[in-house]
Amino acid sequence: MADISEIYGSMVFDERTMQERLPKATYKSLIKTIEEGQPLDLDVANVVAHAMKEWAIERGATHFAHWFQPLSCVTSEKHDAFLEPTGDGRAIMSFSGKELIQGEPDASSFPNGGLRSTFEARGYTAWDPTSYAFVKDEVLCIPTAFCSYTGEALDKKTPLLRSMHAIDEQAKRVLSLFGETPQRVMTTVGNEQEFFLIPEKDYAHREDLVLTGRTLFGAPPCKGQELEEHYFGAIRPTVNEFMKELDEELWKLGVSAKTKHNEVAPAQHELAPIFTNANRAVDENLLTMEKMRLLASHYGLVCLLHEKPFEGINGSGKHNNWSLSADGKNLLDPGESPMENLRFLVILACIIAAVDDCQELLRMSVASAGNDHRLGANEAPPAIVSVFLGDELGAIVDALIAGDEYTSAEKVSMDLGVAELPSFLVDNTDRNRTSPFAFTGNKFEFRMPGSHVNPADCNMVLNTAVAKGFKDFADALEGATGEGFEAAALSYIKQSLKAHQRIIFNGNGYSEEWEAEAACRGLANNRTTADALPCYVASESIALFETMGVMSEPEVRSRYEVKLEKYNKLVNIEARVMQRMAHRTYLPAINAFARETAEGLQVFKAASPSGKVRQQQSLLDALLEGIDRIDLALSAMEARMDEACAIEDQQERANHNAHVLLPAMERLRAEVDAVEGIVGRDRWPVPSYNNMLFYV
Ligand code: ADP
Ligand code: MG
Repeated sequence: MADISEIYGSMVFDERTMQERLPKATYKSLIKTIEEGQPLDLDVANVVAHAMKEWAIERGATHFAHWFQPLSCVTSEKHDAFLEPTGDGRAIMSFSGKELIQGEPDASSFPNGGLRSTFEARGYTAWDPTSYAFVKDEVLCIPTAFCSYTGEALDKKTPLLRSMHAIDEQAKRVLSLFGETPQRVMTTVGNEQEFFLIPEKDYAHREDLVLTGRTLFGAPPCKGQELEEHYFGAIRPTVNEFMKELDEELWKLGVSAKTKHNEVAPAQHELAPIFTNANRAVDENLLTMEKMRLLASHYGLVCLLHEKPFEGINGSGKHNNWSLSADGKNLLDPGESPMENLRFLVILACIIAAVDDCQELLRMSVASAGNDHRLGANEAPPAIVSVFLGDELGAIVDALIAGDEYTSAEKVSMDLGVAELPSFLVDNTDRNRTSPFAFTGNKFEFRMPGSHVNPADCNMVLNTAVAKGFKDFADALEGATGEGFEAAALSYIKQSLKAHQRIIFNGNGYSEEWEAEAACRGLANNRTTADALPCYVASESIALFETMGVMSEPEVRSRYEVKLEKYNKLVNIEARVMQRMAHRTYLPAINAFARETAEGLQVFKAASPSGKVRQQQSLLDALLEGIDRIDLALSAMEARMDEACAIEDQQERANHNAHVLLPAMERLRAEVDAVEGIVGRDRWPVPSYNNMLFYV
């Protein structure tokens, strides 16, 4: 086992390395850029590029790449060698400041939602010095933003950075009313990443998994997760070896992988790093997912990051832990003095208001074809956004709204007039796994994101929403001072909590009663991606993103288009794979088995005219019945596919896909799965759930 302190961050051009490798003046101006966002001049960039290249070559790098996050979920990189011919038939390793700060990938093949027409194919990548460069697989990777030549963001990082800037600006306005002037307010994020590991040999035989990431067919295993033996259970030896290599690789990349354990479902696991600022946390999460996929193959395994690879078995999420840090101080810590408590309550009220106002946008930010199978399926939070505060904080909020005195469980009564909070709140470890947005002591845990998503989206929305909450408070309170300020702040909190009380829910989010109650409260319940996406382009949303300086209207519209198209394409691919598998894999296999059964039946009858062939006869009947039902369901699905293809408008097509085609696909699946249980094990053409989930 490697010594963590020796390998940790060894492949990252981090601050310590910069200090070691750069001349003092260069280091200082780079840090100024990182901390204050000042532009970097080319002379400085040239010096940094040279030092970075030397450092990367020592770590085996031969190429560099601008590493960026296009609007599709994956990261992109184009590798260029550090190569410069010298004119005498030789070459040297070179890397200039210009190459470091700007790249020009052909943007025409990335999704852009109409932002850039193909004849303006050029896009450019710009170095994001606030996220460290790193060496991965002999390539120096430089985290970059990706924009069109007209300046629109074509990626997920740029709006995220803008949203972090918005929250910094607005939070500082709020804090200055409390006499606090931090240099920087950052959003901090820690993503708990869930995933499945299954044997590669089984995976290879499942066209559905290979092409869509999830099983489109498959009867439930004889044993699921009902024995509850997997969660935190001993990790399988192969998986353990995989986890060790993963930890080491991540540590080298400066990703502080900290916690790993088995999850609830068989073959499901989780890895959580230590939180960091939102921008780096997103980069780290993307790297983590990439490494998971890659390293699994070293152990004959495949890592499934799909939100719902197996029906009837828990899907995978990515819990997005989120907080705010002012120069390192966590603003979601209730604090010790009345004034700190008042600040905490202000921040809390602003967040609650933000989540209520932007509930649909938050839901939208995690919407995907895959996540639709997970949200609301009694394993993940429902598609309804609500906030969980826990008993203590919930009671305080109730008391504030009612204007009562608060009496705690320990019967400590508090005069909320000076906004005092009991100190036990600090270690409030209340857990409510059913809430989509839960306060967990000193941070919020947003549990809706699916495992496979780029977490930039939901953090961008969350930051923008909360920045707006802060802005509203600062706009209202600026000018009030001293005791007048305290009274005004408290009254703002009360009014705001009262206005947004409907979003607070401390009960069981999985229950049917909650769905009904949420409807009475007027909370949105957008069950599918098709239902969730339109709010992105509602006029209030566009106004929000524009006023907070996060996205322009064309940028918002382009993202809506990309998400919509992606949803439609994915559903279409899934339907086509089902169609193909039904025609070419399942029906031939079931027919062959039926024929074998029929032939057997005839042989038995001939050999023993009075022998009992009831079992063979009823099996044959059931198989023929199953084949017929599959055929009918298949034809129905094909008709729905044709209808979908005929719909021009993408939103209408998405509605059709969600509400007409997907139910037809589910029916086909159910018919095939029903036959799986009666076909001979070695006649079934693909590995079963039993094979894939329970291996050694
Ligand atoms: P649990 O499963 O109990 O929710 P984990 O330990 O698995 O907890 O994950 C908690 C995650 O929350 C970790 O990634 C942790 O670093 C992160 N976290 C803790 N404090 C903060 C914070 N202030 N801001 C953002 N993330 C945080
Ligand atoms: Mg956890």
